[in-house]
Amino acid sequence: MFGIVKKKPVEKLTEALGKEKVKEDTVNRRLYSYDATPIPIQRAMPSAVVFPESHEDVVKLVKVCYEEGIPIFPRGAGSGLTGGAVPTLEKGVVVSFERMNKFEVNVDNATAEVQPGVITAQFQDYVERLGLFYPPDPSSFKYSTLGGNIAENAGGPRCLKYGVTREYVLGLTAVIKEGHTIKTGNPVIKDVAGYDITKLLVGSEGTLGLITSATLKLIPKPKARATALALFNNLEDVGKAVTRILTSGLFPSALEFMDEDAIRAVEDYKPVGLPRVEALLLIEVDGTHQSVLEDIKQVEELLKPMGVEVITAKSKEQEEKLWSARKSLGPALGNLRSGKINEDIVIPRIYLSEAIREFREVARKYDLLMVIFGHIGDGNLHVNLLYDKSKTEEEERAERAVDEVFEVALKYNGSITGEHGVGLTKKKFLKSQFGEVGYELLKGIKLLFDPKNLFNPGKVVEV
Ligand SMILES: Cc1cc2nc3c(=O)[nH]c(=O)nc-3n(C[C@H](O)[C@H](O)[C@H](O)COP(=O)(O)OP(=O)(O)OC[C@H]3O[C@@H](n4cnc5c(N)ncnc54)[C@H](O)[C@@H]3O)c2cc1C
Repeated sequence: MFGIVKKKPVEKLTEALGKEKVKEDTVNRRLYSYDATPIPIQRAMPSAVVFPESHEDVVKLVKVCYEEGIPIFPRGAGSGLTGGAVPTLEKGVVVSFERMNKFEVNVDNATAEVQPGVITAQFQDYVERLGLFYPPDPSSFKYSTLGGNIAENAGGPRCLKYGVTREYVLGLTAVIKEGHTIKTGNPVIKDVAGYDITKLLVGSEGTLGLITSATLKLIPKPKARATALALFNNLEDVGKAVTRILTSGLFPSALEFMDEDAIRAVEDYKPVGLPRVEALLLIEVDGTHQSVLEDIKQVEELLKPMGVEVITAKSKEQEEKLWSARKSLGPALGNLRSGKINEDIVIPRIYLSEAIREFREVARKYDLLMVIFGHIGDGNLHVNLLYDKSKTEEEERAERAVDEVFEVALKYNGSITGEHGVGLTKKKFLKSQFGEVGYELLKGIKLLFDPKNLFNPGKVVEV
């Protein structure tokens, strides 16, 4: 006698979406089990990779997953650095949004409707050709997706002046528990009706539901930009210079910091002729052709009495060279040591000098090379602890040092993350930042959207 053969949960997904959208082969399962997280993390081969092509596909897939108890691991381009898109349970499926990559711009309303799989740079180039501007600029913009940026609330150098992704999301459509659709916000600047669920979903790292479209705010494209380099022979002066610039009435579009090891790393990797000084600031201003020249002159006048030399880029090529130096820092550090823990803590800028001193003390205590660079204007620093991957003891020392880096950030009322999110790698520190009551609220919110804990389980908050 033959018994009734029960269908595997994934077969039900294939039945609902079709074979072309559900891949169970080993190559796809392995390929989609990674993201860009540079440190070892818990990961599993998913049971399938699903490629929805529409909102309706997403509704169907969440319904099946909710009925069958299948964990869902959403994924954009997999450029995340905290394990957000990594599957951690074999029963789970990765949901890749790469086929949902359409967008439509409404020039008159200065808004856009975008699907999550749109590549950030492609969207930015398109709107800039229309005279509009979408400022959020993570360094991964050439390959990251808008869905991933929204889920991580991504930011970059320009966020000092223009704010992070959250400031540009006016509304969202998402699929939450049991396949229910939630539509939040509208293509308007002012909308104060009810709780702000749009802003809650931005930065939720795939743990509350799947974002299937977003309404983005666009602003006029600045007419001109100018870039300058400020050279410091004394690290302690950098914090003072940042305060001096930002309290002078100037509002730079970027204020980026590199310490001497960061400068060395870039020059060893792809030399652009950066001077060997103790630290430098890369300063960008934007506005009209006239105003940017005046602003850079004012920067020079502000920093001159501190003995700080300011060099202005004289051509587009020189500007691009300086920015390429800043943007190549990630790979450049790989040349110094084989292992790297890159944190993205935030410190209120009034405490920057003290905090940088304390970070360096942590590095000395653990006998590790530390390289610091980042968006110093908004207090968001990339504190990198470098180690030799082949030496387990050194790697463990680096992990212990990171704990102390977070302690310093929280002591100064800062944050454990300004860009990369919590994901898997920082979740053990989240309670310290939120406290018991705050953490309970986070758990309650998670379960309200996802009572079966199927959306990116084990990430951000433990329920
Ligand atoms: C070299 C490099 C430089 C970087 N620089 C920056 C930087 O300057 N600033 C910065 O903020 N980040 C930076 N990052 C980190 C990363 O690129 C960003 O977090 C980016 O927003 C991730 O986009 P992604 O499309 O790759 O998303 P993924 O990494 O695939 O996913 C990120 C998170 O979003 C979730 N997710 C994706 N799509 C959806 C969806 N449709 N619905 C719900 N959840 C979803 C995933 O589950 C995951 O939790 C950098 C990364 C690299 C490798």
